[in-house]
Amino acid sequence: MTEFDDGLRSLVANMFDTMEAAPGVGLAAPQVGVALRVFVYNWVDDDDVLWRGVAINPELWISPTAIGPADEDTESEGCLSIPGERFPLHRADLAILTAVDLDGTPFEIRAEGWLARIFQHEYDHLDGILYADRLEHKLARAAAKAIRKNGWGELDIAWTPGVDDLEG
Ligand code: ZN
Repeated sequence: MTEFDDGLRSLVANMFDTMEAAPGVGLAAPQVGVALRVFVYNWVDDDDVLWRGVAINPELWISPTAIGPADEDTESEGCLSIPGERFPLHRADLAILTAVDLDGTPFEIRAEGWLARIFQHEYDHLDGILYADRLEHKLARAAAKAIRKNGWGELDIAWTPGVDDLEG
């Protein structure tokens, strides 16, 4: 993407609104039907530092990921594209994000812990990968069942955070 214009600004503003209404800690453009390599994030870490921004045309370097079963208490993540479900998944502890902002200015963030997880999750969306695709076999089957049951991913079924009642 090369057009850093008003269209991109309003897309990003809408993505922040949608993420906050959900509420979620991240949102990628493909989740709102836009095929651009853009994601937004909003996360307060354990030291009360706010991590909030937009990553355009990002690249992500990650440290090696652990193998074996993931911990349900500390490694469960969810996704606005698979609402109401959470499954545990190993992610790399360290991620280095390089991207440009709305002005086209490059930046780099060294992320650890949950912020690193958010970056990996959102970055995957840009390649059409859901966290459910990365789950171990048994959990992947449970996730696929939930997705099928609710019809998530079908073109005519969508929900609008803050507008539609998920339980309804
Ligand atoms: Zn997601």
